[in-house]
Amino acid sequence: MFRRSRGARGGQDGHPSDATGKVPAPEPEAPQQPPPHARPSPAGAPAPNLVASYREAVRRAFGLIARGPDVEELDAALALEEEARLARELGTERADMIRRDVARAWWAETRTCPWCGEPGVLHDVELGGP
Ligand SMILES: [Zn+2]
Repeated sequence: MFRRSRGARGGQDGHPSDATGKVPAPEPEAPQQPPPHARPSPAGAPAPNLVASYREAVRRAFGLIARGPDVEELDAALALEEEARLARELGTERADMIRRDVARAWWAETRTCPWCGEPGVLHDVELGGP
């Protein structure tokens, strides 16, 4: 006499097998494109506040240079990093133009070289230095 094990492999009296290969079709993926107006405007004029921020960053850098060796290294690093970041955003040419303009104003105001902080000398031929 042997026992039939019920259920283990019983195909007959159990519910019909699920493995019919019928899988519900996956939903088509929605295209995920950002709306075109969400992008920042390309090469045109930079935002005015970007220019203002950059001028400020350049002045801060000149100020740090003028203060010389007693500037905290971290302060200097952060200021230069910010200046570089904004310059990248503006593009090299425009950033150069602005930096030059700020340097001219800096010299006019402080009579110290914007590039090295030396008083009374402007080490910049293009700005009228020796
Ligand atoms: Zn100098």
